[in-house]
Amino acid sequence: MSKSIQVTRSSMPYFEEYVEEIKDLWKSHWLTNMGVKHRQLERELLEYLNVSNITLFTNGHLALENIISTLDLTGEVITTPFTFASTTHAIVRNGLKPVFCDINPDDYTIDADKLESLITERTSAIVPVHVYGNVCNVEKIGKLANKYNIKVIYDAAHAFAVTVNGISIANFGDASMFSFHATKVFNTIEGGAVTFQDEKLYKKLNELKNFGITGCESVGYVGGNAKMNEFQAAMGICNLRHVDGEIEKRKFVVEKYAERLNNIKGIKICKPRRGVKSNYAYFPLVFDGYKVNRNEIFEKLKSQDIFARKYFYPLTNSFECYKGRFDAGKTPVARYISDRVLVLPLYADLDLEDVNRICDVILDK
Ligand SMILES: *Cc1c(COP(=O)(O)O)cnc(C)c1O
Repeated sequence: MSKSIQVTRSSMPYFEEYVEEIKDLWKSHWLTNMGVKHRQLERELLEYLNVSNITLFTNGHLALENIISTLDLTGEVITTPFTFASTTHAIVRNGLKPVFCDINPDDYTIDADKLESLITERTSAIVPVHVYGNVCNVEKIGKLANKYNIKVIYDAAHAFAVTVNGISIANFGDASMFSFHATKVFNTIEGGAVTFQDEKLYKKLNELKNFGITGCESVGYVGGNAKMNEFQAAMGICNLRHVDGEIEKRKFVVEKYAERLNNIKGIKICKPRRGVKSNYAYFPLVFDGYKVNRNEIFEKLKSQDIFARKYFYPLTNSFECYKGRFDAGKTPVARYISDRVLVLPLYADLDLEDVNRICDVILDK
């Protein structure tokens, strides 16, 4: 039996490198609450992502919940159902109503041409997702947001290190959320961040992630606890040193997949838009008119101990917990893609041999 292949494998620094990084914590005994490592990682990420403002969180989901909360949104928020549960939940858990916009069939990001018809006087924000690291139509979304005076918060969980015509992805909209979960291109074990335009938000975001404590004897907000600890930050400091190399290795894997799977009738590969520097976070295939369907490929791979993922199926507007509240029939393109998409295993150290084994199963070779 050949070895099993998971959809992803977390990037880790050398063991000695991490141990070296956490050593001083045994001197300071300062383990969380915006310590030295936390501050260092914030500084390094500001530079790496080329942004003016950033604050770290214990995970990406709470980063998103907190930035939504910080902006005091009301009423309706337009978003995509073709995403991870987190995006929709973060809106609903803030007491806001998600309004689902369909996606475009080329790169599966929110269809900017369908946005305007969904904007009402109750709309306070748009939460698009750079899904798979594919960049949303940021120009058009920015124009609409200006015209209607609404906020834009990008779920950039998949888009760490992506640039558009040399501009860091973290610079679009009012704010962007990044996830540093173990499965993402850059990880702090669990972790996340918000980058944002308005520097005044820094204080409030930091207070919100620390129970809303605004002073020694004052609590100004009903905040939660979403602080990144020092061990997470130390992991981030180490992983950040290697992330460019990891992305290069991912690129190699993606190119090998593409060589085998390009120009196969009924298999669609998604290519980055012009000017976009990709982070090679995911390798989604859409099976449309191929000799076997997505579910059969998924099962066939599984029977060989190869674990692909149906990202994103089901759509968030079809979740059991939202039963009766939304109509997935209103986002037909998202539903179509969701029924046909499969994300193949992809990580920096995936062997060429394994890539070929996976392609052989798909191509029935
Ligand atoms: C991973 C992910 C999140 C949540 O991030 P966590 O760090 O796991 O909390 C949110 N949105 C998308 C699209 C994601 O893939």
